[in-house]
Amino acid sequence: MDTTDIQRAADWIRHADAIIIAAGAGMSVDSGLPDFRGTAGLWTSLLPTGMTERDVGSLTQGDCFEKKPVDAWQFYGRALQVCRQCTPHAGYAMLRRWAERTRYGAFVFTSNVDGHFQAAGYDESRIVECHGTLNFMQCGEPCCDGIWASGSLMDDVDVDALSPSTMPRCPQCGHLSRPNFLLFDDNRWVETRTSAQWERLRIWLRPVQRPVVIELGAGTAVPSVRMFAESIRGPLIRINLDESEVTGDGVGLRGAALDVLTAIDAALAQD
Ligand SMILES: [Zn+2]
Repeated sequence: MDTTDIQRAADWIRHADAIIIAAGAGMSVDSGLPDFRGTAGLWTSLLPTGMTERDVGSLTQGDCFEKKPVDAWQFYGRALQVCRQCTPHAGYAMLRRWAERTRYGAFVFTSNVDGHFQAAGYDESRIVECHGTLNFMQCGEPCCDGIWASGSLMDDVDVDALSPSTMPRCPQCGHLSRPNFLLFDDNRWVETRTSAQWERLRIWLRPVQRPVVIELGAGTAVPSVRMFAESIRGPLIRINLDESEVTGDGVGLRGAALDVLTAIDAALAQD
């Protein structure tokens, strides 16, 4: 990491009136979540017994809860357990602290479905989860636009023993339920919650004059987070392990999210 670049990033943060946090998979990895393979936030280490990395593709398709309901629920049931067991790393609190010094605070835009910003104490009304979240469920059909909190679902469940009679179901119609996040070629995702989040972001952005965008661990394979980060008028701080190049007004900081945030935090402490 170039110390000049760290200083530039720290200066932008000092003078910003709002911080926009754009977080991809790399942000979650530093909390100990298994590394990503594939692009929808899926973890090969969570595969049901007997399945290999080749099978991940079939469990990232929108019809996986129809075609392979038991495998899909074992996979995502375990994902839910792992996300709950992991504690968000210290970088979440650093970002919050920096944002508290700005006039408008922080707004989060993330493709991560693990709900870790909420778990780290971020305001639920200041988060866009562009691919949805594991923390809400929806009907697999879906029979309606209703979603409901996952709550303690799967907490004490042996996911390897899940069967059609024990898998979670829609309280409205009895059809199998599924997490409220976006899969590939997914025409069943209920996007009402994410749409409402987008609307809140649009309203929040209106008075902001000097935003700084901090992009963390966002990949290029599914570029939703990168595209969003680049769409904001304001300097971009791109933190990425291996794809940190920036064109235009911004700085690229190569490294793991937590390491780079820690370096910027040290620079900010020198006020
Ligand atoms: Zn239903």
